[in-house]
Amino acid sequence: MTTHLPDESASAIPSSVIQVRGVRVHNLKNIDLDIPLNQLIAVCGVSGSGKTSLAFDTLYAEGQRRYLETLSPSARQYLNQLPKPDADQITRIPPAIALRQNTSQRHFSSRGLESTAGIESGIQHYLRLLFSASGQIFCPNCEIPIAPQTPETVLAFIKSLPTEIRYQICYPITLGEQSLSEIIQELKQQGLNRIILNHEEYQLSDDAAAVLAQADARDEEILVVLDRLTTRSIDEQRILESLEFAFSESSGQAILLVMEPLENQATGIPFSIGQQQILRFDFSADLSCPQCPLEFAQPEPQLFNFYSPGGACSHCGGAGTVPTTTGTNTIEICSHCHGSRLNPSALAVRVNGHNIDQLGQLPVQQIPDWLEQFSKGLSESEAQPLTPVIREIRDRLSLMIELGLGYLTLNRTRSTLSSGEIQRTSLTSLLSSNLVNTLYVLDEPSSGLHPADCHRVISVLQKLRQLNNTLLIVEHDAAFIRAAEHIIELGPEAGKAGGEVIFAGPLEALKTSEISPTGRFLNSTETAPLKTEPGQPASDWITLTNATRNNLQSITVRFPLRQLCVVTGISGSGKSSLLEQTLFPLLAAQLSATRSSQIDAGSVSLSGADQIDEVILLDHSLTGQNPRSIPATYLNLFDEIRSIFAQTPDAWLRNLSPGHFSFNSKSGGRCPVCKGTGKIEIDLQFLADLTMDCQECHGKRYQRELLDIKYRKLNIAEVLELTVDEAFPFFRGQSALQKKLKQLKDVGLGYLPLGQPLPTLSGGECQRLKLAAYLNTSSRNKTLFLMNEPTRGLHPLDIQYVLNCFNYLLAAGHSIILIEHNVDLIRAADHIIDLGPEAGAEGGCIVVTGTPAEVAAHPTSYTGMALNAKFS
Ligand code: ADP
Ligand code: ADP
Ligand code: ZN
Repeated sequence: MTTHLPDESASAIPSSVIQVRGVRVHNLKNIDLDIPLNQLIAVCGVSGSGKTSLAFDTLYAEGQRRYLETLSPSARQYLNQLPKPDADQITRIPPAIALRQNTSQRHFSSRGLESTAGIESGIQHYLRLLFSASGQIFCPNCEIPIAPQTPETVLAFIKSLPTEIRYQICYPITLGEQSLSEIIQELKQQGLNRIILNHEEYQLSDDAAAVLAQADARDEEILVVLDRLTTRSIDEQRILESLEFAFSESSGQAILLVMEPLENQATGIPFSIGQQQILRFDFSADLSCPQCPLEFAQPEPQLFNFYSPGGACSHCGGAGTVPTTTGTNTIEICSHCHGSRLNPSALAVRVNGHNIDQLGQLPVQQIPDWLEQFSKGLSESEAQPLTPVIREIRDRLSLMIELGLGYLTLNRTRSTLSSGEIQRTSLTSLLSSNLVNTLYVLDEPSSGLHPADCHRVISVLQKLRQLNNTLLIVEHDAAFIRAAEHIIELGPEAGKAGGEVIFAGPLEALKTSEISPTGRFLNSTETAPLKTEPGQPASDWITLTNATRNNLQSITVRFPLRQLCVVTGISGSGKSSLLEQTLFPLLAAQLSATRSSQIDAGSVSLSGADQIDEVILLDHSLTGQNPRSIPATYLNLFDEIRSIFAQTPDAWLRNLSPGHFSFNSKSGGRCPVCKGTGKIEIDLQFLADLTMDCQECHGKRYQRELLDIKYRKLNIAEVLELTVDEAFPFFRGQSALQKKLKQLKDVGLGYLPLGQPLPTLSGGECQRLKLAAYLNTSSRNKTLFLMNEPTRGLHPLDIQYVLNCFNYLLAAGHSIILIEHNVDLIRAADHIIDLGPEAGAEGGCIVVTGTPAEVAAHPTSYTGMALNAKFS
């Protein structure tokens, strides 16, 4: 019997849906969905329920395959290697673009140069076009505009000379392949009969030629005299013709020899002919300074691009930094380009008073004024060809400002941006690309956003959708879910207990759904009364005085110890400048025995550090981790698992040691093809690299022989597929192992498979994993934990895990200071430090500090408004 796929043309499904049937990717349980096209769709559900598996590993993966089909044959050769998501059918899926969050990924070009906000937003590209089309070169030594000379500009110069001045119009020639007598022959045929050689003037009579032929003129400049004139009467036609001739015969040079002394004429070069002192003026159709020896490159777009050899500073190669000559492993700003990464020719070009580097140092919100001023100064004929470029720049600038990024500068390097800032910068570029009928898949666009900023991003997403695109966002944030037209909720729980569609439909239906936890969460608008007293009284404080890093306005901040302290404020208000860039390095320096004197503390000072023993910054990266690391190796529980397998009777029989169960060691039982990673990488060059399951071991990492060994009916590869929640009961009786698994459950990572490669974890998951590693440290050290957005990627229903964990740490006498936007977590704070009032230069102050109730009572604090639920 043959089965038939549903016949699309015959079925009654409206053409405006992506039809998804029988998806079994990861934990998804053979799910069917009709996903409306041209809508804003939110995918929600508890962590581990399968959101990423659906949004990225199924829909984006398939959309990307479709996109590849539209590319060149050379791109398509990889098509049959692209893994097809495990699904019966996916129809009408548009080409897809993904915006993923992964702060551990640094974007460097092949030459190792780091990208900037300007490049990521697409603005830099159009600025390069503008600078090449309208830039004016200024000599950096002489501060004068450099323009290629023309007969007209030289004529204007002649007209500016005093009257009664005698002058000659000349041009230089070089001998090249020809001999001097051949040249003289040619000149005479052209009716020219005077030259200057070695500061002597010669009449080209026949006998003079004979004398000259003896002279060694190979390396000497020969000036051919075209015309001898005076400024008493100016015959414009005659002068222009001579100059025209000079420029064309010498490929771009004309020389005026002024035969009288000039007053106030500093620009000429003193020159002599015989006994006579004269002044020489060189005019060039090239871009060179008339007063100094500098020459400039033609302003082309590539001149303003540090990725291009034509634009990059030749000393640092476009990096902007060079290794220090003295230091160890440290780098310093490239002094030749002052960190601008560009060569002097590029920096000499200005548009409306700024070169491209100076422009890149302005906050984005100041650039529209500059652009407006520039376009106002243009004549209609100048403006017309620039209109499209100016429009692109203007549109992108206003998008960046609209997305709340107006405080950034275009020169900011990618690694100094938070992942939310990176995502919104890329959004600028996507939105202005005017792609239509595209599927955009976004990972938590709310991350890093204060509730007050959320509506900006939402309205930009809505615009993108209005351009006939489909937007699929993986989100937990209530404001984003409320803005979605269609909501898909996966669940009911994580891992194998999830993977089902528990709701699909519009918001109203979600709110009345009996079974949707997200619906219940959205409905729980009746909020508990705000804390008026801290849970733990603070008797000890750390005080930071006169913090000035980045935009901080010499603020003095008191951080309570042994409390849950949360630093809040809109994006760019100064939270990470305060915690990550000031408090942490300062504390770390004071606490480390080898007191580093390298911290550039400025005038900032710190007191109270003696009350803690150590400070730990738990950021979103897992630097120093092997890309082969997995949660089981990170918490050292894999050693115990391997011992357990080595103690099974089958392993005894075959003489297998714990080492054989390692997928990292060469001598172990790992798959020889993928060397134990289970994956094979394909380099797609023009696209992001692609990884596929190893065809030898089918992604299991091990050789057949090892997989025959079972413990409680599972082999080692199957154990690595267990989630933490599943592994906990599985390892009953192994108390050391269970204790470590409990630490992972406690930080809300129960859904994580033991063998999931760490590089695939989200920033929030990395941070919670690090936190888990500290939960068992039985040391009596008093530790201060600093964290940036620990709730990122967590469903609201999972936030309680993290709070429990914080309470455990506080009860053990530790201290916690967080940067957070999540209102539920801010509500749980003992002490809030709210920064602002706005971003960038308008931020960096303390708006209000105190308990949630005190902050909520503040009239203008955005955080206060969020606590009062004014934004939901
Ligand atoms: P969510 O995005 O809702 O947090 P995911 O889609 O990431 O959930 O994960 C759902 C389940 O799919 C997880 O429990 C995990 O077991 C499994 N999973 C996720 N990624 C992979 C992967 N790369 N390989 C195997 N299983 C995975
Ligand atoms: P928040 O953490 O509240 O989003 P930040 O502390 O990151 O705010 O930023 C505050 C201000 O300092 C912004 O104007 C930002 O552009 C600037 N800033 C932050 N980090 C850097 C940096 N590494 N280099 C230059 N400017 C920075
Ligand atoms: Zn393999």
